[in-house]
Amino acid sequence: MMRAMTLHKPGEALRMEERRLPAPGPGEVRLRVAACAVCRTDLHVVDGELDLPHLPLVPGHEIVGVVDGIGEGVTHLALGDRLGVPWLGHSCGHCVFCRLGRENLCDQPLFTGHGRDGGFATHVVAEAAFCLPLTLPMDAVHLAPLMCAGLIGWRSLRMAGDDAMKIGLYGFGAAAHLIAQVARHQGREIFAFTRAGDTQAQAFARALGAVWAGGSEEAPPVRLDAALIFAPVGALVPRALQAVRKGGRVVCGGIHMSDIPSFAYRLLWEERQLLSVANLTRADAREFLAVAATVPLRVETTIYPLERANEALDDLRAGRLQGAAVLVP
Ligand SMILES: [Zn+2]
Ligand SMILES: [Zn+2]
Repeated sequence: MMRAMTLHKPGEALRMEERRLPAPGPGEVRLRVAACAVCRTDLHVVDGELDLPHLPLVPGHEIVGVVDGIGEGVTHLALGDRLGVPWLGHSCGHCVFCRLGRENLCDQPLFTGHGRDGGFATHVVAEAAFCLPLTLPMDAVHLAPLMCAGLIGWRSLRMAGDDAMKIGLYGFGAAAHLIAQVARHQGREIFAFTRAGDTQAQAFARALGAVWAGGSEEAPPVRLDAALIFAPVGALVPRALQAVRKGGRVVCGGIHMSDIPSFAYRLLWEERQLLSVANLTRADAREFLAVAATVPLRVETTIYPLERANEALDDLRAGRLQGAAVLVP
């Protein structure tokens, strides 16, 4: 048997359920979950802010687990292998986006903890080709937040451009706290924006190397080359555009945001660019995990037993967390 925190209706709390252990199908593996971090996207799923292909559903897409079942045709993995399971759980391989190496935009994707059951559980079945080999010498709890917060943070940072040396981070949660360290390691300067008055998050950002930290309504002391927005707050878009220099980029890293208020064209003018990041590719994962092996990453986590997943979601929603919440079965 396995246990899973299951969503039956958006807006309702997850319910712990027992089910029969699923057998991995062709091309799939079953993992015993060692840890699964909680992402803001899980909140959007649970709160009904994203369309869901089916219910009931087990959320969770920042999974670290150990292979305990292997389906037909999987020859490159063995029982006992430690793997990561990220948000991109399947892409079709033949649509125009897949063919262009942009599988993150696939026309027929399946996302872990969305289109297929995820890792808020003791076990999960995943498509073997989309699982990530994990060789970093870190424990599962500290690895789990890398599977989305780290990966999406990385994709967002890449979109900021290699020449962006002064980078603003709006929302200093799980993604920002990881990518701030990577950016700093690359010799860039970090300016951290938090909720107004959140002096604790600002101190956390400074402790991780931010040269400046303040409220999101404040102007940074210098013009930024780029800004990454991780908070789901549309009002931050015009503020970030105002903070970047001519030709600067504003990258929206989340999957959902409140509406963006209308703003004067002059904020975008002078070749500023506004971009969004959607999902991730396996190439992003390979790249990021290689980079993470060279940066002494401090991964801040708060551990919750699996059955307290609802509490973890509430704490994330309320901004009570520093770093990432991680569920451990
Ligand atoms: Zn495709
Ligand atoms: Zn995520």
